[in-house]
Parts: sequence; C-alpha cells; structure tokens
Amino acid sequence: MFNFFAKDESRSGNRFLLDGADHNHIKNVLRMRPDDTFLVSHNGVSHLCRLVEFTDQQTVAEIIEENYQNTELPVAITLFQGLPKSDKMEWIIQKTVELGVAEIVPVEMTNCVVKLEDKKKKAKQTRWQAIAEAAAKQSKRTVIPTVTEPMSYKAAVAMASEMDLILVPYENARGMVATKEAVEQIKSGMKVGIFIGPEGGFDPKEIDAVTDVGGQTVSLGSRILRTETAAITALSLCMLHVEMNGENQ
Ligand code: SAH
Repeated sequence: MFNFFAKDESRSGNRFLLDGADHNHIKNVLRMRPDDTFLVSHNGVSHLCRLVEFTDQQTVAEIIEENYQNTELPVAITLFQGLPKSDKMEWIIQKTVELGVAEIVPVEMTNCVVKLEDKKKKAKQTRWQAIAEAAAKQSKRTVIPTVTEPMSYKAAVAMASEMDLILVPYENARGMVATKEAVEQIKSGMKVGIFIGPEGGFDPKEIDAVTDVGGQTVSLGSRILRTETAAITALSLCMLHVEMNGENQ
C-alpha cells in the first residue's frame, strides 16, 4: 500500500488534505480513485485512509483507522558515518533508513578521502534528506529520519556523549562475545549511537576520543568490511536484536 507523509497542518478533523507533490502523485501518477486506500504518516503515527475526492489543489482522504501499523523501532539509533567516497553515502542512507535508523550524521574524519567544501554541505544535506524521505516512504516508516549536515569528529563525539550507548565497530576489536554483550545492552527507549569509520578507517586518536566518552569498540566478524557494509551490518545487528526480543510488540 502506498504511504505518504502529511505535513502537520494537513489534518482537518477526521481527514487529511494532501497538496503539492503528494496530490499530484496520487491523482496523476497513481491515478487513484475515490474509495482507494493508502497510508498517511502524520507526526509519527500511521493512518489507514480512504480517498474521498480531489479538489483543484488537494487530495481529500478520510481516516479509516488510526495507529494502523507501527513500523518504528522502539530504540533511536543514530548512525555517525565517516564520509565515504562518491555516492556511497546515498546508498548508506537508503539502506539504513530501511533498517530503522532514526538519524544519520555524516562525520568528517581524519582518514576521509572526501573533503566537502562548506558551501557544498547544505546542498548535499538537502539531497541526502530527500533520499531519506524516499526510503522512509518505500519502507513504510512513520517517521522520516533526519540527515544532518556533515559534522566535525569533535562535534559528533560531543553529540554521542549524551546518548545511552555508543557502539564503535572497529576492525581491531576482538571477539564476538563482546559484540553480543554490547548489543544486548540495547533496551526500549534508549538512544544508541553507532560510529563507522570511512574507507581509510579510524585514526587511533579518534578511537581514544570516542572511548573516553563511553564508546565501546566492537567487532563485526573476522573479515574487513567496506565502510558501507559495516554500517549496514551494524544496523542490522541492532535492529534484529530489538525486533527478536519483542521490544516492538
Ligand atoms: N582501516 C581499515 C578498514 C576500514 S573499513 C583498512 O583500510 O584496512 C571502514 C570501517 O568499517 C571501519 O572503520 C570500521 O568502523 C568498520 N569495519 C570494517 N570491518 C570491520 C570489522 N571486521 N569489525 C568491526 N568494524 C569493521
């Protein structure tokens, strides 16, 4: 079923009034008809809706059921991703949004090959946010994860220091028992930060800085993973732990 994100002000009583791109998509691309059903996510809540009619500028939909489905993880995971090369960031955003990430923070690290000029950061962030929105729609999320502008490592560590748990996948960490124990600390309601190094990996000083604020280095197995594989593996591990332990029931 199609899923649309409604702006705050688009709710009117028992109805949603959708305009702009969503209206155009429903009417002219999907060519929906009255009585067709679709989902509307509004303030993090999913609604099953029935199309009532089209006006010139709006699609009018009536709510059939509120809280129709909860697709959000009960844990807020922030991915602190070392800026990767070329379009890898886009791929990481798309996949981690599917896996349930709450927020993505691109981080400038010592060994990053890519250095973004300040004036390009805003444009990149806008594009990345649009990718997050498309992925959220596709995977029927009820919340659109935020992608921040690229941040310095220092600022990222300061932000993570406020969180309940910080996991740092690091190829020099040993032992999957430690990884299992670290992941098992994740409980409903927690804020969890995950740090992934760029292609060149973490600088040892960066590992020191994040462990100083409570970051726990963990292994993701005996092989070296590419940065994008590491991000997806870490997210999958946390998502599956949370879902398998019924934290989302
Ligand atoms: N510096 C390394 C690899 C960097 S891989 C080298 O060039 O040989 C990019 C990032 O993926 C790492 O910084 C780490 O966060 C993560 N990563 C890759 N393989 C991993 C593993 N086996 N265990 C934990 N983290 C891993």
